[in-house]
Amino acid sequence: MELDLQSYWMPFTANRYFKRHPQLLESAAGMYYTTRDGQRILDGIAGLWCVNAGHCHPRIVAAVREQVGKLDYATAFNLGHAGAFELASELKKLAPGNLGHAFFVNSGSEAVDTALKIALAYHRVRGEGQRFRFIGRERGYHGVGFGGISVGGMVANRKAFASAMLPGVDHLPHTHDLARNAFSRGQPTHGAELADALERLIALHDPSTIAGVIIEPVSGSAGVLLPPKGYLERIRAICDKHGLLLIFDEVITGFGRTGSAFASHTFNVQPDLMTVAKGITSGVVPMGAVLVDRRIYAACVSESGFQEQAVEFFHGYTYSGHPLACAAGLAALSVYREEGLFERAASLAPAFADALHSLRGAPHVIDIRNIGLMGAVELEPRKDQPTLRALDVFQHCFASGVLVRTTGDIIALTPPLIIEPAQIAQIIDALGKALKAVA
Ligand code: PLP
Repeated sequence: MELDLQSYWMPFTANRYFKRHPQLLESAAGMYYTTRDGQRILDGIAGLWCVNAGHCHPRIVAAVREQVGKLDYATAFNLGHAGAFELASELKKLAPGNLGHAFFVNSGSEAVDTALKIALAYHRVRGEGQRFRFIGRERGYHGVGFGGISVGGMVANRKAFASAMLPGVDHLPHTHDLARNAFSRGQPTHGAELADALERLIALHDPSTIAGVIIEPVSGSAGVLLPPKGYLERIRAICDKHGLLLIFDEVITGFGRTGSAFASHTFNVQPDLMTVAKGITSGVVPMGAVLVDRRIYAACVSESGFQEQAVEFFHGYTYSGHPLACAAGLAALSVYREEGLFERAASLAPAFADALHSLRGAPHVIDIRNIGLMGAVELEPRKDQPTLRALDVFQHCFASGVLVRTTGDIIALTPPLIIEPAQIAQIIDALGKALKAVA
């Protein structure tokens, strides 16, 4: 039967182009998709930076199947089910420092908006309700809620909604500096001083008006922009000096992507709040969470002084801690642990870096960068046609059976952590050929 392609308004998609050139996925296993017309596609981007354990992992699939026949749904408001408590407890073991509490949501966007609300609630309950501002960063991506686009720094995601932004938000400069840092492996050398812009914003607004700072330790959607050496440490120190909460958005970097459980471990910098999603269930069921420092939970809940029967935090979703998501999350965490996937990401990282950097000198390439199993190849944009060269590269790769991701004129690679060295070579080979083929 012919598919009706018109009824579905696709997200973040050139709908008209897609519907003239549809590419439909039908099934998946391990490192591969199979398209509707039977083509096998090697997944170089873990779905959308999320399928860290590989597609249709049998243990995660089995856990979800078992759960759906046992308890399909349970409200999280004044009732519960064991899975949510178990998953929160597992996350506490995995999380850095004192991030001992998890607030469950259904996506990265919801995690971000929830983290902003928790920051406001924390200051308010401590009698500092005048702290209402947030500082984000240029080129940051924090999802598509009104909070997330306000603190985010992706112009295309903001301009149409400029009238509806959160009040009082300001932005740090981004750290991408091709003049000084092109072709860096791991953290670039130059740019720690860009953190000092935070001092200037604090001086401008006064610390007493600022609730917190939200940044991705590695900007993902903007094209894998790594923090310069010393940068995150300085941001942390400035937040401490002025009583600002530091929120790390680890929706992409969480669950092994940088070679440790979280980028916070990789860079050894501790946030007060952390947003996660994607890899929390290896992409199998939508889920996100805010991981919260013990002292914030204590201030908002256990030592809040509210009457015991009172709701402490007026926030939550119908599907917070959904049983299927919790089953998928528990299974994913156990797969990560038992298959040693975070360690695998760390041990494959040098070979991944070598393969990626072998493209230096290929046509159009102006930068290559990497950390863990996360990398990007930046292309010189075509004159007056930004993004189109990268889109052509995407099409060439897809035609040769490899899925990459483009953002602007940047090609991002973030494979599942189960990738084999030969598959890394296949991705780089396809990319190299595509770079030679495109104008
Ligand atoms: N935060 C970051 C850092 C992300 O990369 C994303 C999505 O890519 C989000 C938030 C939003 O997540 P979601 O698309 O699940 O709402």
